Amino acid sequence: MKQVQYTCIVCPKSCSITLTDDNGTLSCEGNECKRGAIYAQNEYLHPMRTLTTTVKVAEGSVKRLGVIGTAEIPREMLGDCLQEVYKVSVCPPVHAGDVVLENVLGTGCDVVAAMTIE
Ligand code: SF4
Repeated sequence: MKQVQYTCIVCPKSCSITLTDDNGTLSCEGNECKRGAIYAQNEYLHPMRTLTTTVKVAEGSVKRLGVIGTAEIPREMLGDCLQEVYKVSVCPPVHAGDVVLENVLGTGCDVVAAMTIE
């Protein structure tokens, strides 16, 4: 039997959840609603993360452009995906929602501008 502690981030209550894995049968304690159990089980089985960072702006007074992923990516791929994003440099004008990197590392996640730079 294995137990893992999580703090649920689904709502501001921040319930402390204990997930128990008993030979593949998962159960949760401490969550005040079903969403917490779903959150803990997803974190345990296949944790996903949203990529947010900045990329270089090649010219102009603004040096960095905020970017965000359009889909969550597996947590274990986040570091490698960030390394790919750091290779990107954009030239203005760039508009919020413009794709700056497509399908990063085959994850199905595009990286788009989070702001506009004229
Ligand atoms: S378990 Fe439910 S009530 Fe508790 S933090 Fe998560 S979503 Fe909120």
